[in-house]
Amino acid sequence: MPDLGNFQSTQAVIAKHNFSIQKKYGQNFLIDEHVLNKIIAAAELTEDDYVIEIGPGIGTMTQRMAPLCKHVTAIEIDKELIPILSETLSEFSNVDVINEDVLKVDLKGLIDERNDGRPVKVVANLPYYITTPIIMGLLETKIPIKTITVMVQKEVADRMMVGPGTKDYGALSLAVQYYAEPYIVANVPQNCFIPRPNVGSAVIRLTCHEEPPVKVKDEKLMFKLVRASFNQRRKTLVNGISNFSELSYTKEQVTDALDKIGISENIRGEALNLEKFALLADALLESE
Ligand code: SAM
Repeated sequence: MPDLGNFQSTQAVIAKHNFSIQKKYGQNFLIDEHVLNKIIAAAELTEDDYVIEIGPGIGTMTQRMAPLCKHVTAIEIDKELIPILSETLSEFSNVDVINEDVLKVDLKGLIDERNDGRPVKVVANLPYYITTPIIMGLLETKIPIKTITVMVQKEVADRMMVGPGTKDYGALSLAVQYYAEPYIVANVPQNCFIPRPNVGSAVIRLTCHEEPPVKVKDEKLMFKLVRASFNQRRKTLVNGISNFSELSYTKEQVTDALDKIGISENIRGEALNLEKFALLADALLESE
């Protein structure tokens, strides 16, 4: 099977199978060898690694990963790609393809069954229309994962990296940084894909923490506070939290809790870092 990481061979496979690219599935196929090598190198695959690939497309990344690891399970929603994948991956006995929406797959069950519950590596050129639910799902459900190395929209990669005081800072930044250490591997221009996406891209690697960087008694409460703060970004934290439908703290309770941890009652949520959100969650829990 020819190397797929270029324009000619990708076009040839698409034409041979009379495949029509589906915008609705965020299909932008990688055609740049240099970028492919960067993603694979960043994933640091070893022969013990079990890889889950989300959205293999025509198998361009899968082909490169299979020789480097123990097994690749590739999850692809588009049934029209399944016969193509059977052909492009036919020489690998350590690859299987699941024709499913990744958001509906029981990944925990899959990892328990196929890898004895041991941590896997996730590698993907993600469909951009569902980047956040995929990343949040992987992190929040606490399935055993070592690293997540993914191509995402550049702006989303930036949101994962930043701290308080920047416009990109938000719920995604805090969630990612609570569960993992983000690192931007490379920025990727539009001409590295067919068709070209409308936005710039970046490869980001999230190395999952064994222990979160801050201690908090009730994680769910902390993330509700985060959502309350960024739902109404321009409001003070006191108003944001006391107005939030999923919480029932009064203004007074929030003001007292802020006072207790030495933060002004006029502060906005966007000024708080992860540690402060954890302290606030503990203080509010104590006030119940
Ligand atoms: N990995 C290929 C590459 O790099 O050329 C394709 C990447 S393309 C950006 C995203 C892929 O994800 C497509 O193959 C698309 O069909 C697939 N996809 C979209 N939504 C999906 C979902 N909900 N579950 C699984 N795969 C999905």
